[in-house]
Formats: sequence, C-alpha cells, structure tokens
Amino acid sequence: MTGIVVLGSTNMDLVAYVAHAPKRGETVTGREFRTIPGGKGANQAVAAARAGGDVAMIGAVGSDDFGAALRQTLVASGVDVDLLRTSEGPSGTAHIVVDDEGGNAIVVIPGANGTLTALAPGDEALIATADALLLQLELPLTAVLEGAETARRHGVRTVLTPAPAQPLPPELLAATDLLVPNEHEAATLTGVADPHTAAEALLRQVPEVVITLGSAGCLHAGRHSPPLIVPAPEVTALDTTAAGDTFVGALAVALGEGKPVEQALTWASAAAALCVQRAGASTSMPYRSEIDEAS
Ligand code: AMP
Repeated sequence: MTGIVVLGSTNMDLVAYVAHAPKRGETVTGREFRTIPGGKGANQAVAAARAGGDVAMIGAVGSDDFGAALRQTLVASGVDVDLLRTSEGPSGTAHIVVDDEGGNAIVVIPGANGTLTALAPGDEALIATADALLLQLELPLTAVLEGAETARRHGVRTVLTPAPAQPLPPELLAATDLLVPNEHEAATLTGVADPHTAAEALLRQVPEVVITLGSAGCLHAGRHSPPLIVPAPEVTALDTTAAGDTFVGALAVALGEGKPVEQALTWASAAAALCVQRAGASTSMPYRSEIDEAS
C-alpha cells in the first residue's frame, strides 16, 4: 500500500439550496439544507484511502459536534486519525448557498483549521515514513510551509493543490515537487490564462505540474518531459464538487505505486469522472475496484 500523509483542512459544509441567493437585507425561504463533511484536506484523504492508499491525516477539528462527525467520516474511510488534533472551540465550517442555476456563494470560517499554525511532536516522524505529503491552502501558510519543508528534508514527494487560489511564497514553491492547480488557480499564480503558457511559467518554479481542465481533462508538464494532455472520460456531470480532490488523491496513490505518469493520470481521471457523476463530496468518491473497472 502506498503511504500518504495529508496535512490539511477539515470543514463541515452547511449547504442551503435556494431558488435565488438573498441580496443584502433580504430573507428568502430555501428548499433544502444539508450538512456535508468536507474541507480540501479531508476530501483528499478520503479519496486517496478509497483509491487504495494507506492514508494518515494531520489536521484539526473543533471540540463541537461537527468535529466528532468530521473525525468519524475519516475513520469510516479507513484514514488514520491518530495525529488529528481536537482544538477547543468550533470546527471549520463552509456556509454555502446554492441557487437553482447551480451558482454558489461561500463563506468559509476556518475555526479549528486556523489553530494549526505549526507541526506538533510526532508529525515529522509520520511525514518521514510517507511516499507523499498532500498539501492545500486551507491551513495557515506557516504550517503548510513547515510541512512541505519537513517532507523535503526526508525525501518525501510533496504534492500541493494551490487552492483557494492566492499568490504563493517562493519558499513554498521551492519545497513543492508536484503542483496541481485547476485552470483558474494556474491563471492566478502566473497571470496568464492559456494552460500551456501557464505550465511553462510554473515549471520555472516547480519541477512538475498537472493543470486540471475540468471536462477537457488535464495537462501534465515536467522539466524533462514534453507537455501531455490526458482527456477526461466523456460522462454526464451531475455535481463536480470535490472532483479536483478526488483526482489528486487517486493520482498520489497511482504515482506512489510506481505507475508511469500517463497511466497514473488516466487512472486519476477515471476516478474524478466517477466522482462528477454522483452528488456530494466524500459521498461521491469512488473505491479502487470502481476506478480499476472504469479505467
Ligand atoms: P477541475 O477541478 O474542474 O479541473 O476538475 C478536476 C478533474 O476532474 C479534471 O481534470 C477531470 O479529470 C475531472 N472532471 C471535472 N469535470 C469533469 C467532467 N465534466 N467530465 C469528466 N471529468 C471531469
């Protein structure tokens, strides 16, 4: 099994489904409310575990009921939570309004995620045993950077999803082996919209990039390999929530098992295509047997 450590966020998504989002000062009656366990870190951990990885999560949940539920979601997918802290106070929450046109507006309150500003004793020893460390940008940057540099010191591959999109400190890019932005994040990082040009610019800062392109698949580029587009399977998308996290989790497992890059990208694309055909976040992530069958 592939050893993967995720250093990242856990959030409870509180989703209101409405015909149209309220304007300032307005009250609207919605149709439905759902609480959905999420957070980019937890999503990537669940995706990688279901894809067959041996996964541990470093993060923080709150001391509230959401924290217990978030922890349980990870445990149920087989993620090791020994180093998941419980911090006194609220868990991270994302307050999401989804309208009938599929548009959304989101407020994220970091809660417990915001308390994870540095690694704790034991984290380094765990990271040192991994094949890959998966990072995103929903924890304080100090912890993300410390995690990346710790992994680097131990020769562990670092995989960074630069989301939510924001300019990155050069030290973090310098400690990143594989950067996996979507098109929008790649444009934010480079200032150019064309993915090929963005990939070229990113390769000046990291050795390997995969830009995900939604239904158009993904673009892989490395300093020593020519750009490669891997198309996505043609499917009818129902809900693209967590497609990118499913892709990254599955990709990390495949690369850790030594699959050649093109084969690993095809396998990760099959996983993400299964995810978009189902509703929800962790609920929509496929298991290894399903990915094998689809790829
Ligand atoms: P995105 O974050 O939108 O770039 O999506 C991440 C990955 O999910 C893509 O690289 C695809 O592998 C997959 N994906 C997203 N949307 C679709 C879709 N409509 N059909 C098939 N695969 C998709």
